[in-house]
Amino acid sequence: VADQVAGAIHFARVVSELELANSKLEQLSMHDGLTGIANRRCFDLRLDEEWHRHVRERRPLALLLVDVDHFKALNDASGHLYGDECLRELARLCSGMVRDGQDLVARYGGEELAVLLPHCELADATRIAEHLRAQVQKQAMPHPDSRVAREVTVSIGVSAVLPDEGSTAEALISTADRALYAAKAQGRNRVIAHAVVRDRID
Ligand code: GH3
Ligand code: MG
Ligand code: MG
Repeated sequence: VADQVAGAIHFARVVSELELANSKLEQLSMHDGLTGIANRRCFDLRLDEEWHRHVRERRPLALLLVDVDHFKALNDASGHLYGDECLRELARLCSGMVRDGQDLVARYGGEELAVLLPHCELADATRIAEHLRAQVQKQAMPHPDSRVAREVTVSIGVSAVLPDEGSTAEALISTADRALYAAKAQGRNRVIAHAVVRDRID
């Protein structure tokens, strides 16, 4: 009996260690190591989920693509470690601005973050983006080699769509991407918003 009890205790311990290891793996596979926010994989999964939910609910879904201005020049002038620090700060600012448990802030690419805003229209998303842009500049992280300002700034592309069976989540991303490109082309440190219209740009 003692052996059986010892065996059961050992088994229970192994199971709980496996569960802990699994949850650590899950955390690692969904989060970005540098900033601690969601990674691209997590963003893609969540976008797919939200897309289908919004088709069912017939509610608008919005996206911000946030890109640091002249970030390569910042790395070159102040070093990669300082660049990393600025990315962490940007992630922290974005996370602090969104609705807990509802919005998703993710590292979309190198120095580009995505903010997914469920149940949000283009006008509200644009206001949030403008607030974020201003907060980043107000943070006054020095950028000695920016052609836009003395401090770190971001450009933000905004898109929103009323998802339906005839459109795709890719249209939401490509529209925000084009808006971001326009924000860069028009001088950076600004927000440009485009609505998705039947998979085409507004
Ligand atoms: P733009 O204003 O047009 O966005 O110019 P940019 O210099 O920000 O854009 P570009 O795409 O030329 O450079 C992005 C840089 O971001 C290059 C890359 O080395 C840097 N980068 C990407 N990921 C990281 C990171 O995790 N840490 C640091 N420090 N730099 C990174
Ligand atoms: Mg950039
Ligand atoms: Mg970029």
